[in-house]
Amino acid sequence: MKYQLIDTENAAVLAKGLCERIGIEGSQLKHTPKDRDTVVVQSYMDTHADAIKLVIDALIHRQHGVITDMGQIGAVGHRVVHGGEFFKKSVIIDEDVKKAIEQCAELAPLHNPPNLIGIKACEKVMPGVVQVAVFDTAFHQTMPQEAYMYAIPYEYYEKYKIRKYGFHGTSHKYVAQRAAIMLGKPLEQLKLITMHLGNGSSITAIDGGKSIDTSMGFTPLAGVPMGTRCGDIDPAIVFHLIKKEKLTAEQIDDILNKHSGVYGISGVSSDFRDLEKASDEGNKRAELAENLFIYNVRKYIGTYSAIMGGVDAIVFTAGIGENNSKMREAIVKHLAYKGIKIDPEKNSIRGIETDISAPDATVRTLVIPTNEELMIAKETYELVTQH
Ligand code: AMP
Repeated sequence: MKYQLIDTENAAVLAKGLCERIGIEGSQLKHTPKDRDTVVVQSYMDTHADAIKLVIDALIHRQHGVITDMGQIGAVGHRVVHGGEFFKKSVIIDEDVKKAIEQCAELAPLHNPPNLIGIKACEKVMPGVVQVAVFDTAFHQTMPQEAYMYAIPYEYYEKYKIRKYGFHGTSHKYVAQRAAIMLGKPLEQLKLITMHLGNGSSITAIDGGKSIDTSMGFTPLAGVPMGTRCGDIDPAIVFHLIKKEKLTAEQIDDILNKHSGVYGISGVSSDFRDLEKASDEGNKRAELAENLFIYNVRKYIGTYSAIMGGVDAIVFTAGIGENNSKMREAIVKHLAYKGIKIDPEKNSIRGIETDISAPDATVRTLVIPTNEELMIAKETYELVTQH
């Protein structure tokens, strides 16, 4: 369970931290107050409610605390992965919202149940404090039907809500807003392609501030190849593997989610730093994994500029997008015909908001570190002040 305490007046992170191994032996809290060293609190946390209590204790602690009492916490914003078709934006949590999040658990069985546990734990420990849900899927609810439907019998959409949802919405929305500020133009007048490239990767076409298509799908398995996830594949491969390897559906699920992607191709690692090292040392499969990633990201840039009828700027974000200049350079390499050109010197930056375009580029290329926590805090603040 990760947390940040954010002062929304100046966007300052007063403290941040992480509770590890909740419910298992050796659980601990790592707490970092602003401009101070990290404190490790070793204490058994049986439930998420115990973890929340420990976090609050740390926040108001005499030595490593940053506030004097819990009453200073105005609201809590929760990252909730799946909002299905129920939620097109962030909402203040009430009983109906909790029911809907529970209903969406079928679509995100690993994420929504712990999200709900976190919400209920906060309600218990801080009664009366407004709780807000910020959904990963909400930003993509503006996609047109032809973008989100799959060409399978329509009844499966009606019965099971099988459709494209898209993820990383909070990140795409945040970097799009920052891009508009950097470009000095209203978001409503911009066509953007935002590329969240990390362990999980997704690419979004944002036209006039609205997501009109995104690379992840019904689940976060679709799109470009990722650290360990396969991305887009021919679904018939699944049946072929079931037959040939006598695998169960669960085993295939595990292979495609955890043993595929650049890790599956390279056999080296899911981390692009390890891949770069291995390919520099002559490992051909590591080089192939990098190339497969580059190729697919570039393909999405082409596809999304086609569906928007042009593009004003492309945005790199997340671990790889923010830090890996080699990948950025390789992705845009053959895109000069589109007006996408970067300046090699500007491209050498890491993790700093920068316009890395070449002077003669007609499409801007931006590096924007994502900040999902700040976006969650901003949306929470907006809802609480409207309340
Ligand atoms: P994320 O899931 O956003 O944390 O991204 C993880 C990916 O980002 C890994 O493949 C890392 O290789 C890459 N990454 C994270 N930090 C750095 C860094 N400082 N330099 C180069 N790559 C990085």
